[in-house]
Amino acid sequence: MSHEILTALGLGNTQSGTYLGHGEWSKTTDAGTLNPVNPATGEVIASVHASSAADYDVIVKRAQEAFKVWRTTPAPRRGEAVRLCGEALRKHKDALGSLVALEMGKIKPEGDGEVQEMIDIADFAVGQSRMLYGYTMHSERPGHRMYEQYQPLGLVGIISAFNFPVAVWAWNAFLAAICGDICIWKPSPKTPLSAVATMKICNEALKEAGFPDIFFLFNDAGVELSQHFVDDHRIPLISFTGSTKVGRHVGERVAKRMGRSLLELGGNNAIVVDETADLKLAIPAIVFGAVGTAGQRCTTTRRLFVHESIIGDVTDKLVAAYKQVEGKIGDPTLATTLMGPLNSKEGVQAYLAAVEKAKATGGKVLTGGAAITDRKGNFVLPTIVSGVKNSDEVVQTETFAPILYVMPFKTLDEAIELQNSVPQGLSSAIFTQNLKSAEQYLSAAGSDCGIANVNIGTSGAEIGGAFGGEKETGGGRESGSDAWKVYMRRQTNTTNYSNSLPLAQGIKFDL
Ligand code: NAD
Repeated sequence: MSHEILTALGLGNTQSGTYLGHGEWSKTTDAGTLNPVNPATGEVIASVHASSAADYDVIVKRAQEAFKVWRTTPAPRRGEAVRLCGEALRKHKDALGSLVALEMGKIKPEGDGEVQEMIDIADFAVGQSRMLYGYTMHSERPGHRMYEQYQPLGLVGIISAFNFPVAVWAWNAFLAAICGDICIWKPSPKTPLSAVATMKICNEALKEAGFPDIFFLFNDAGVELSQHFVDDHRIPLISFTGSTKVGRHVGERVAKRMGRSLLELGGNNAIVVDETADLKLAIPAIVFGAVGTAGQRCTTTRRLFVHESIIGDVTDKLVAAYKQVEGKIGDPTLATTLMGPLNSKEGVQAYLAAVEKAKATGGKVLTGGAAITDRKGNFVLPTIVSGVKNSDEVVQTETFAPILYVMPFKTLDEAIELQNSVPQGLSSAIFTQNLKSAEQYLSAAGSDCGIANVNIGTSGAEIGGAFGGEKETGGGRESGSDAWKVYMRRQTNTTNYSNSLPLAQGIKFDL
């Protein structure tokens, strides 16, 4: 199976992890090797050679050269390049979606869905390439014209997490490309094959149509080269997706050199279910939000606040639904599977440790709470825990696994207060049929998250909206709306077409 998937994407058992530009993949073999493991079996899928410091330097120099050409290429023409990438991804959607499932461990429809997100953002970016708008302003001085424009920024560094091994790159790279930037990607060491395949698909499409190199790739066997990347003043923007712990470090280092960072970090997302909620909507949304991608989405539902009058009914229904999921845990590449494995053994350890911690603080496991040991792979049971408090350390922490903490509330004010009382601020949702409650939840005194939904869950965002979160989630926004602006530098221009030199604010300076 894995051989077929690799072959369909033109990948071998040993692969270079460095795209140097000029159609060239590095021949470096002495910078370490990444050996991504199939999380469903524990077997190594293939080997990827990591990049050397010398490779990295070649990439940056070639990217700088490429930028000189790309920044003056008309934006709609840049959009055409991204359109071709989207077309190529459409052709390879099935194979790339399977590779994502194989390497990351998410189920095949989610793997395909991730590739679809890449296609969607490509379509969005093509349209945006004709809409890099700036305002014009009326000057206070006669005979003057004032306006602003957005110019390409330069080299954009993209560091991505394992759980969205390809879509995060596309959210950044396709917008950055239409903005006139050149992208250098450092993917997660857990999913280098998905990155190599993506580079091949897009760069071959660009080359065939005579476009220059705009997308580069390097892989790091440790963190040294990644740190160097973060500190590199030649990269004006680092877009980082990953844990809050590493993101904080990256943000501080980029700030130290006065660079720009776009941080997309951890979440601790909640759903509020009030006494009027339509449970036919709420239950499947909670289950998908908490169990989808085996709880390894930044937007995974981790906390559930249920009105005390219906909490028994809601938890009974959830436990019944979880039992159905339990029967469909397995190989993520099979169509019948609803939940795949965790990506790593460390992920299983973190899951078990969190369950123990929750129990030690008075938590009661309503369902799940154990690893599945009757087969190979990193499989765990989806878990619901009651009896914990929102302030408990384990509830305040993002454990990247399918654990849902259920807590009761009496009033909406209380539910909102509890929901917001965590360090993270990514996604949130309320299930209610009460218009006033919905509006209160979305008001200035409501959810403090970057994403707040009514009657849909916390995960599964569309690319059309700006995506990101507040507080320790990092504050960045990417994908839709006006997120493109972060990839450009903003310039205010004033032209004097009169024969005099009036100064602003009426200042006189007689010579
Ligand atoms: P991670 O922080 O361990 O790694 C993320 C990336 O950082 C990887 O590419 C890694 O190699 C790199 N890295 C590690 N140390 C580094 C250093 N010192 N300097 C530079 N780069 C370094 O995260 P992960 O385990 O791959 O992903 C899971 C986390 O990502 C979760 O917390 C999840 O919530 C978060 N995430 C957030 C979003 C979002 O949009 N908010 C999306 C996906 C994942």
